[in-house]
Amino acid sequence: MAHKIPTRIYLSEEEMPKYWYNLRAVMKDKPDPILHPGTLKPVTAADMEPVFCKEAVRQELDDTTKLVPIPDGIQDFYRAYRPSALIRAYYLEKDLGTPAEIYYKFEGTNTSGSHKLNSAGPQAYYAKEEGLEYLTTETGAGQWGTAMAMACAFYGLDLTVYMVKVSSQQKPYRKAVMETYGAKVIPSPSDTTDAGRKILEGDPDTSGSLGCAISEAVETAVKTDKCRYVLGSVLNHVLLHQSVIGLEAKAALDKYGISPDIIIGCAGGGSNLGGLIAPFMGDKIAGASKTRFIAVEPASCPSFTRGRYAYDFGDTGKMTPLVRMQTLGNGFIPSANHAGGLRYHGMNSVLSKLYRDGLLEARAEIQTEVFDAAVKFMKVEGILPAPESSHAIKVAIDEALECKKTGEKKVILFGLTGTGYFDLSAYMSYNEKTLTDKVPTDEDLEKGFASIPDIPQNR
Ligand SMILES: *Cc1c(COP(=O)(O)O)cnc(C)c1O
Repeated sequence: MAHKIPTRIYLSEEEMPKYWYNLRAVMKDKPDPILHPGTLKPVTAADMEPVFCKEAVRQELDDTTKLVPIPDGIQDFYRAYRPSALIRAYYLEKDLGTPAEIYYKFEGTNTSGSHKLNSAGPQAYYAKEEGLEYLTTETGAGQWGTAMAMACAFYGLDLTVYMVKVSSQQKPYRKAVMETYGAKVIPSPSDTTDAGRKILEGDPDTSGSLGCAISEAVETAVKTDKCRYVLGSVLNHVLLHQSVIGLEAKAALDKYGISPDIIIGCAGGGSNLGGLIAPFMGDKIAGASKTRFIAVEPASCPSFTRGRYAYDFGDTGKMTPLVRMQTLGNGFIPSANHAGGLRYHGMNSVLSKLYRDGLLEARAEIQTEVFDAAVKFMKVEGILPAPESSHAIKVAIDEALECKKTGEKKVILFGLTGTGYFDLSAYMSYNEKTLTDKVPTDEDLEKGFASIPDIPQNR
């Protein structure tokens, strides 16, 4: 017999969002301004425009426009792979024996395999509109590079991706997808930039780092005519584009009069979580709901639960503006045996502020338990989740089991950000039982904190 609430709730094309939701516009206390690292004064658009597209900069600095129109050219891009399904986890509920209703928004059905395409499209669109011809970016795990390669193919732009060397060796298929879409993939560090050459001189056998790849991508963007740099998480304009996830989820739930009691998302730099919660958090701030929000991070990279709230650089090369955020320090390096993703040292400034103000909760989970949850989920729901997404699954299951104890029939919504087809080496380690948990000691964290700049604003 069919369910009263369908297993998959879809929106029609007409019901898809026409506006993004800018959460900062409805916050009573706003995040602190981004600072220029030289002057320590708030950055201006002119400071950022040599690096980023003009429209991205405008959106980055806009904390007053609540609803930002999605241009037709981007709605057109979204229609190629959206709306994404909102899925009722009937099989998981049954398996857990919980009275809770569990829903998840699944962003993994496009070829890049994750939500990152939701911001890659807009960033490529704005670059094209501005008359640019080239973009550069970095990629670690490979999802962002793949999403940008797809978006650049769609809008007709050239893309160079600096891919962390070890990752380009470990994930040759990711590299192959990007190249097939027409992107140029350069293992980083490389001899194509001053930043790369300098690092290679000091350590020719280095396996590379995200910090170094960012430095190379920014350098190339600044030195190349009609070229800018794009980033896939952490920044406010990326969260704005990702609000399409939350808006679609809300529209789908509204069709059946469902209002979530708990919303859960994994957090690396914060983009999917910020996007998923945006309209729901707006309701909470307005006093129209009592929804709880939970960010889930890996215990090996705990920027919310054990980080400091301070002005810090976004990259290890200390080239970016300073952002006040939850951070482990730009010099923090998560343990090498961490396979679960979400390794970034900092957290988006909006989410950091909501956390400080008690509107957002956070939990840190160890990777063996995250993979246990992933496997439990895939056996009943059928989807192989990305390790990153599985952090949210872990806490959704915990909350559902809590309901089983108390008998409460709560509505739980979580973000399933992607598939794990390119993360099978992590699943192989899990199956071979070689996956371990390494949680940093307080001493390990102190080393990272020492890299946070000693400026008056941080004292
Ligand atoms: C990049 C990524 C994340 C984490 O990034 P956020 O910016 O924190 O959302 C989570 N899940 C998947 C599948 C990703 O590719």
